[in-house]
Amino acid sequence: MPIDQGYDEDDDEKEASAEGAGRRFGDFDCPECDANNPYDDRFGDGDEVRCFYCGAGFLVEVTEAGRLRLRAS
Ligand SMILES: [Zn+2]
Repeated sequence: MPIDQGYDEDDDEKEASAEGAGRRFGDFDCPECDANNPYDDRFGDGDEVRCFYCGAGFLVEVTEAGRLRLRAS
């Protein structure tokens, strides 16, 4: 029996703010060193990410508008 929960792993990342606060991201730009960090495991609100270049860690916050915010942790 096919399972259909409307869940799609291949969400179009360019559709900004379509998912609001539940949006998940596949990369982020480090606020410290400006490096772009691709993340194979997608991250979303409440997750922690770490910059591969400078090692800074950030707490992820996604606003209701689906915008990514990174807070130094
Ligand atoms: Zn960095």
